[in-house]
Amino acid sequence: MSFSALGLSAPLLKAVAEQSYSKPYPIQQEAIPAILKGKDVLGIAKTGSGKTAGFVLPLLERLQSKQQSRNRYINTLVLVPTRELAVQVADVFKMLGASLPRKVKTLAVYGGVSVNPQMMALSGTEVLVATPGRLLDLLSSKSVHLSEVETLVLDEADKMLNLGFEEEMNRILGLLPRQRQNILFSATLGNDIEQLIKAQLHDPVRIEI
Ligand code: AMP
Repeated sequence: MSFSALGLSAPLLKAVAEQSYSKPYPIQQEAIPAILKGKDVLGIAKTGSGKTAGFVLPLLERLQSKQQSRNRYINTLVLVPTRELAVQVADVFKMLGASLPRKVKTLAVYGGVSVNPQMMALSGTEVLVATPGRLLDLLSSKSVHLSEVETLVLDEADKMLNLGFEEEMNRILGLLPRQRQNILFSATLGNDIEQLIKAQLHDPVRIEI
């Protein structure tokens, strides 16, 4: 199995080659074609599985043929539990997107630092990687809008629930268009995660690694 068999176009294959990824990890073999088709995906996978490139590559591919979204209207929202993960995921979008013909501005926003620089940096952002509390702050000041989001990624969803972000997460989910693609990654599958999956995912492709 090679990356070229998964439906990625030449610019994305070049990005993969630049990272010296020689072949797709198992989670990528399943997630990339499903996400390219616009399906909802449920991935039961831990850090180290290659899950990040598993959603970043197909989402960058889909953005290649899309018009730039209106200023401060986010196309792709990635919710994460921690600042560290926000930075890490945004870096993968930036790294894999660096040499693409159609540029995609990605920004990480998280709490614990002042909000003003993040507010200013939001201009032109299409992919927003956010922790829930800080995203709610930015929404209440109308620095960013979610009404045109096409894809939602919940990364490390179990950790998000464990850290007590359920209420914040649900408030954010309520601001998204109903019609959208949902991608959820979790290392574990508890009752609360199953409920979240039932409520948010539509006929997901299930991937367990
Ligand atoms: P993740 O599970 O997304 O945190 O990724 C774990 C690590 O695997 C990261 O350092 C990636 O750069 C690396 N990686 C992801 N996909 C591949 C691949 N297909 N081949 C080699 N390394 C990869």
